[in-house]
Amino acid sequence: MNNSFYHWPKIDLHRHLEGSMRIETIRELAMREKLDLPYGDEEAFNAEFRVIESDERTLVRFISKFIWLRKLIADKEVLARLTYEVVEDAALDNVKYVEVRFNHYHLMKRGIAEEDIVKALNEGIDLARKRYDIEVGLICGISRELPAECADSTVDFAVRYMDQGIVAVDLMNDERYAPELFVRQYEKARAAGLHATVHAGEAAGPINIVNAIQLLGAERIGHGSHIFWGEDADKVALDHNTMIECCLSSNVQTGAISDIHEHPINGMRELGIPVSINTDDPGVSDISLTNEYHVASEVLGISPEALKGILLNTADHIFRPELTGMLKNKIETYFNQQ
Ligand SMILES: [Zn+2]
Repeated sequence: MNNSFYHWPKIDLHRHLEGSMRIETIRELAMREKLDLPYGDEEAFNAEFRVIESDERTLVRFISKFIWLRKLIADKEVLARLTYEVVEDAALDNVKYVEVRFNHYHLMKRGIAEEDIVKALNEGIDLARKRYDIEVGLICGISRELPAECADSTVDFAVRYMDQGIVAVDLMNDERYAPELFVRQYEKARAAGLHATVHAGEAAGPINIVNAIQLLGAERIGHGSHIFWGEDADKVALDHNTMIECCLSSNVQTGAISDIHEHPINGMRELGIPVSINTDDPGVSDISLTNEYHVASEVLGISPEALKGILLNTADHIFRPELTGMLKNKIETYFNQQ
């Protein structure tokens, strides 16, 4: 099987809007916003936004890259442009379906009206869809460290605009704010017909994976890096057929795992837990999805045949199930032509 992963028709289920910005766009917007940054020193400038070799491998350091990024999304025009570029970059990497997640509260805090957030996101997506062969789903992120009312208003927003591309909710940021704090909000979202994913077992223990599945009804888990650390999290994920959204490079950069060879993806596969391969933050991590498939293949030893299986199985767990058949067809057609 031809393993030139760049050409494979791929699916990315875990990609953050802010973490996917192009460095040239960042530079242009930072200058426009007159942010106090080292413009004359490219290396130092890039280090503010991207993980570099000498960075400490911790989530705190990783998240520090987002502090400036958030300041760049000044209005709805910028939001539309960024959305377009993020989807375009995915399309140029032969991603055929991407779920882009955004942080509702941070966009609101920039003073962008709710209807303009949705309009701008869709404007960017529609333009990219006109130019490229790609489909998109939007995941609305709840900032878990904020008061419960913020989570309520994020879910209300997601429900209100679910006919305009929002397909799911997610819990983002500080994992110490555990899943059990958000039962009410997830019940509401799911009752309305939204899908559910949760960042869990990345910066905290496996109990967050268990509670995300059992208490919040999460159909997928973001990262799940600590799934084998106990609490029967692996068995719960297996019993519920919960897909783990693996983000290989990101997990090393954030210190979720200490070494890429310790990534649990192969353990999950052996057990039969559904897994997918995703980027998380291609801008901040300076990677592409193609890159992540190479890591899976060359570093973790997953065969091209098994990677094709992962890809087909990923299509079964997307939050726009009406596209599953089309995506599987595209994948099979590609491999039949090889
Ligand atoms: Zn993430």
